Amino acid sequence: MAAPSAPPVATGMHPAAQPGMVHPSPVLAARGLLMTYGTAGTTTRALDGVDLDVARADSLAVMGPSGCGKTTLLHILAGILTPSSGSVHHDGTDLASLSDRRRTRMRRQDFGFVFQDGQLLPELTALENVILPRMLGGVSRRAATAEAASWLDRLGLSGMHERRPTQLSGGQAQRVAIARALAGRPSVVFADEPTGALDQTTGQAVLQILADSCRDTGASLVMVTHDAKVAAACRRTVAMRDGRIAQEFVRPAEDVELAGAAR
Ligand code: ADP
Ligand code: MG
Repeated sequence: MAAPSAPPVATGMHPAAQPGMVHPSPVLAARGLLMTYGTAGTTTRALDGVDLDVARADSLAVMGPSGCGKTTLLHILAGILTPSSGSVHHDGTDLASLSDRRRTRMRRQDFGFVFQDGQLLPELTALENVILPRMLGGVSRRAATAEAASWLDRLGLSGMHERRPTQLSGGQAQRVAIARALAGRPSVVFADEPTGALDQTTGQAVLQILADSCRDTGASLVMVTHDAKVAAACRRTVAMRDGRIAQEFVRPAEDVELAGAAR
């Protein structure tokens, strides 16, 4: 039955519904980050004054040569490392104001992680690897299993739920890691050189799955890479040098979409 058609309205869309559209309040806000490793005599200044906002449902690539501070920045944004000075706010909450326990809980509930080599637990099946962090976060086994199975299927791993990591290819293992990162519907997914251990074709496919999954669920993606092709999957790129953000580049949303469509 044809309902009277309302005029098209361009407002009120969820940010995730419009790739590239940026929500005004950032999901992460870092100010004045300094990070020094080591003790007197042998210190390394890994971050030397970083200010960075990560918008909701946005994608950000962090680029730069080895040793420039990319991993340090990622770990500080994710609350894994505490900066020597400066602050990180997540959804308006200062990470430094949280107890270790609450910060751990926040990481489990709001953040997802994809590392270079997947870091799956070798003695667990693909399905169990995805379920475990959810159960640690208090989700029932039944709910976690349903959610994990649906993510594995969605990422092209139906029929592989019961395989152990050694029975998966590098690309399949990374897709399990992506399922694990996204199963809890995180607000931010952090990825550190997620395609670094894969050949180029497999890497490109995995990366596109990661970027698409984040876009589809409205998660922000913060991805460390030193590969410009990998960075092209993100709307925004910051280039680091010697612990600082040296350059910033924003792609038009259409270009990011085209990169996805051309796969
Ligand atoms: P990237 O990820 O860009 O390669 P990192 O953030 O890993 O850079 O490292 C930045 C700098 O800090 C490097 O000089 C590195 O050697 C140093 N660094 C990183 N982690 C540690 C650590 N745990 N102890 C001492 N120095 C470190
Ligand atoms: Mg690194």
